[in-house]
Amino acid sequence: MKKIMSLIITVFLALNFAGCVSQETKKETVSENVRVEDICDTTVSIDDIKFSELEDSQSYWNVFTHSVARGEYGYYYATFGGNGSTLLGYVDDESYECIPLCNKAQCAHNDENCDAVFKGYMQSVWYYKDFLYLIKYNNEGKAVLVQVKPDGTERKDLFEIGNIPVDSSNTYNLAFCNDCVYIYDRTGNCRLSEPVQINIRKISLDKKTDENIITSDESNVIFDAVKSYGGNIFFIYSNTEYNRETGQNVTTSDGLYYYSGDKIGKIIDKNISDYSIDVDNKIIYYYVINEGLYKYELQSKNDVLIYKSEKNSSLCQVSFDGEYLYLDNRRWCSFAMTSEFVPELWVLDTEGNVINVLDTGEANNTFFGDKDNILFEVYGRSEISGRSIHKIAYIKKTEIENAESWSEAEWQMQ
Ligand SMILES: [Zn+2]
Repeated sequence: MKKIMSLIITVFLALNFAGCVSQETKKETVSENVRVEDICDTTVSIDDIKFSELEDSQSYWNVFTHSVARGEYGYYYATFGGNGSTLLGYVDDESYECIPLCNKAQCAHNDENCDAVFKGYMQSVWYYKDFLYLIKYNNEGKAVLVQVKPDGTERKDLFEIGNIPVDSSNTYNLAFCNDCVYIYDRTGNCRLSEPVQINIRKISLDKKTDENIITSDESNVIFDAVKSYGGNIFFIYSNTEYNRETGQNVTTSDGLYYYSGDKIGKIIDKNISDYSIDVDNKIIYYYVINEGLYKYELQSKNDVLIYKSEKNSSLCQVSFDGEYLYLDNRRWCSFAMTSEFVPELWVLDTEGNVINVLDTGEANNTFFGDKDNILFEVYGRSEISGRSIHKIAYIKKTEIENAESWSEAEWQMQ
């Protein structure tokens, strides 16, 4: 195998040198295992980005905690259900009540016979093309992607996506695009004492393709905020280090990258914490740490700072629902490790005007909701048959401009 690989590499190099391929073109061309170290010094043209017909891959959610996914008639919510299990709830658009995803009569929803109980699973859920996807940790030390029917009645192990992480059970994140799943560890190798290669792995749902679209051998690095828009994958490459003097984690981003299936490259070379893309109007909204929110119109190449960051909003996560932009500083608050900063969520129009500011102080996690309805967050705990279980709260998007507080979706266990 090694011999074959070195032969391939030799042929590849020979072709490049013989063919006078320009440096830029060479760097954009994807073969398996592109190293980020080899492409990070070049910024490629945004004119090459082609947005294909829309595919709903739910790129509006918070990428750091994917506990909520949008289904056809409501929302799925994965939370810790006690006893090493994930409990999968469902909130329908009419009642806004949260029910376990289980139809069994007389079920207490607290053991493995229940369709809503997923023992040994991550507390994350994704929805893509009429199926739910969850990640199971099996007895062989592997993480397995599991496809679940939207009513919870059937589960199918698809394939292994990697090893069980050593120090955190909720570390994998996924993005779906063109019938492939992109897998990455959202903590990168930051917490590991020795540098370990990190990657974004692409596996087609039919298992025919399995490759790393990008790798890195550097230390304290993360591939971050992997999202799918219009048939492309976008991601951030960043580095996080602990500052002993201040006791704070300092994140520095190398920029925003895109991958189209046959091209990969950096498109914005700035210290970006997060971004969101308006595919219809071809606009990238991106947040630069300590600067604020930029609006980059790809056709005119206008690139303007529309919201200037303040102390409380030095580092924000970004979401866009077609009408409003949302900025969330929860990650900044947890990085800064000081009570000086208040967890808040800003609602902005597309010109950067602040429409509303919502208190998220009681939230464990903030989730950005979808276009039609509501905005989710985990909110405190409720006691249910002796178990302490998180619940979610929401604000309807129709009320987003004037809302002051969150409504809670109460669990209905019967
Ligand atoms: Zn049940």
